[in-house]
Amino acid sequence: MAKTICIANQKGGVGKTTTSVNLSSALATMGKRVLLIDMDPQGNASSGLGIKRYESQDANSYHVLIGEKTLTEAIQNTSNGNLKISTANPDLVGAEIELVDMPQREYRLKQAIATVADQFDFVIIDCPPSLGLITLNALNAADSFLVPLQCEYYALEGLSQLLNTAGLIKKNLNPQLHIEGIVLTMFDARNNLSHQVVTEIKNHFGDKVFNAIIPRNVRLSEAPSHGQSIFEYDSKSIGAQRYLELAKEVVARAQGKVSVEAPSLAEQ
Ligand code: ADP
Ligand code: MG
Repeated sequence: MAKTICIANQKGGVGKTTTSVNLSSALATMGKRVLLIDMDPQGNASSGLGIKRYESQDANSYHVLIGEKTLTEAIQNTSNGNLKISTANPDLVGAEIELVDMPQREYRLKQAIATVADQFDFVIIDCPPSLGLITLNALNAADSFLVPLQCEYYALEGLSQLLNTAGLIKKNLNPQLHIEGIVLTMFDARNNLSHQVVTEIKNHFGDKVFNAIIPRNVRLSEAPSHGQSIFEYDSKSIGAQRYLELAKEVVARAQGKVSVEAPSLAEQ
């Protein structure tokens, strides 16, 4: 059965999509069977893996969410045989509104994933930068959520809101939900502030912070415009190395080799 991890932070530009694409690709490179579900109407994870918009207009995450297509119908191959994707495009904006009147509106993604869970080791969900119904569906469908935090002054801003929302979902909808971990992104070793943010977040969140810290790396920002993960674009780059380390930690946590203190989300 797949472990479902949702990549969430309602702030934009913190590295959710970069982490979704490259963590998924790293896991696939390690031989895991991975499904990446693009849940952001911007569709950056889809284009970042080289899927053109016209290639997925008939069946994508939007159709799955509103029940027009099955997830199996929406799943497409990528250039890595172990990595499949359900794509997104701007249609998904409409789903937020269409879902409001639909039965089981918070459970639609969960139900869809259940139909393919035996075919994958990991399902990774790339969330939009909001805490609307789409992110709610993702958190409800997930075993855990992974939070990318940018190494900058306002890194923690909004995090308590995300933890509150996750706490409410855990209490009311999805009792198994827990935090997978926090991954620090866009770390700049020459910048004192980056070091301060790392120290502060580690003091605050302890072993929930992944050891792998993702540096600011131009190769990571170039790869999507070539429709490639960092492992295809530049597998020797520091960005590729760090995402591989992150994937190893995620696998170790999934196998229960690392005990991460269970956060008391419900009390948040
Ligand atoms: P989000 O999905 O949270 O909005 P993205 O993953 O799209 O964030 O990242 C925002 C921008 O920053 C993108 O242009 C991306 O290429 C770039 N970026 C993300 N992570 C890094 C990194 N580690 N080094 C350099 N650029 C990065
Ligand atoms: Mg994104």
